Amino acid sequence: MVSCSNAGREAVFNFLRSAVTYVNVHYLKAAHSSSAGAFAATHGLTDTQLEFHNLATDFANAEFAPHAAQWDEEKMFPEAALQKAAELGFAGLFVSEDAGGIGLGRQDGGVVIEALAAGCASTTAYLTIHNMCAWMIDTFGSAELKECTLPQLLTMEHFASYCLTEPNAGSDAASLATKASLDGDEYVLNGGKAFISGGGRSEVYVVMARTGADGPKGISCFVVPSGTAGLSFGKNERKLGWNSQPTATVSFDNVRVPIANRLGEEGDGFTMAMRGLDGGRLSIANCSIGAAYQCTKLARTYIKDRKQFGKPLASNQHLQFKLADMAAAIHTSRLHVRSAAAQLDAKQPTARAFVAMAKHVATDACFNVCNDALQMHGGYGYLKDYPIERFLRDARVHQILEGTNEVMRVITSRELLTSEE
Ligand SMILES: Cc1cc2nc3c(=O)[nH]c(=O)nc-3n(C[C@H](O)[C@H](O)[C@H](O)COP(=O)(O)OP(=O)(O)OC[C@H]3O[C@@H](n4cnc5c(N)ncnc54)[C@H](O)[C@@H]3O)c2cc1C
Repeated sequence: MVSCSNAGREAVFNFLRSAVTYVNVHYLKAAHSSSAGAFAATHGLTDTQLEFHNLATDFANAEFAPHAAQWDEEKMFPEAALQKAAELGFAGLFVSEDAGGIGLGRQDGGVVIEALAAGCASTTAYLTIHNMCAWMIDTFGSAELKECTLPQLLTMEHFASYCLTEPNAGSDAASLATKASLDGDEYVLNGGKAFISGGGRSEVYVVMARTGADGPKGISCFVVPSGTAGLSFGKNERKLGWNSQPTATVSFDNVRVPIANRLGEEGDGFTMAMRGLDGGRLSIANCSIGAAYQCTKLARTYIKDRKQFGKPLASNQHLQFKLADMAAAIHTSRLHVRSAAAQLDAKQPTARAFVAMAKHVATDACFNVCNDALQMHGGYGYLKDYPIERFLRDARVHQILEGTNEVMRVITSRELLTSEE
């Protein structure tokens, strides 16, 4: 069993109580007034969602945005900033209130994630992976495992990693080869994972490993604490973006964990992994929307200020139309993601296909929006003095991970080809 402490849980409750007072009600009402521009991120939000949006936006503006360039440049994992986010409940967005989380649905949680990503998409994306792991432990773990693991995850005293991908099992994740063999009252894990976000830094690894036959039904899911003998990590990968979070291989050499560290039953691991990703893919899409929204706001300001040919760039109809296209792409992405989130919250059987559609539509469209915003900045967009190129680099991987956008189309087309309608 992982190390156990109750102190963290009480701390989270206190943080959540203080989060409520953090919200300035008058400010919220003003932001929700009809004076909000056509492009405002607040359109269509309920009053409660608006509170979450403003809380997260204020936080991202104060704690993420001013430091994001340095985190990227120096490849710093901003532990203190993440722990401050956890003080507001953002490390347990989808964890039940009983377990110390704030128990949001995907529609409400997505509002928080989009707002945070507008400050730093990379850091927020790691936070979503941490949230995915915490949700899996809360949803599928035993009472004892939850008690011993979640309090530290909710405060981010401990960080979490999701370990599915292997060197030879990427898109075909169900072919994974990491093995977990039962030996007395312990499982012994052998094998290796690739591309693990938080790898080498996290204290908690949610690991999919094979306990049975080939295919998805032979996979189980385990919580492996850092420091377990035989667990080791590769170097921090050098990446195009997502530099504010480490990515590393994770190796298992006769790593022993008690049976109590298994989530759910033997053979249920792949189902749990996919259920985690249903929410995770929406979160990644929310990160892309936040990045695209920030880039578009910056581009709007830039083309109004910058003069060429004796007049502001914004007087050029091509750029006006481009800006309109960017706003439309962001709005389309939001509608897609919110619709899929509603399906997931309602546990609709078609939710997975809608999530897949939303992830591929939003992450493709929003990457293109970041690229258009860069183009509008001309040569300056290419410089690190402006944040656009960082948002572009960070958003690029959203088209690849948690299932590539080709795999998202596989999921969507499978649903189309098997349904009657
Ligand atoms: C920065 C980063 C962080 C990551 N973090 C994590 C993490 O925390 N945990 C984790 O488990 N994984 C993580 N991943 C891994 C990520 O999920 C995989 O890279 C992704 O699933 C693709 O697998 P692959 O790289 O092996 O590509 P492959 O599966 O080899 O695919 C290569 C190309 O072929 C295409 N392709 C494959 N099969 C098909 C098909 N049937 N039809 C059409 N096209 C197809 C793919 O779409 C892709 O374009 C991360 C990756 C990156 C880059």
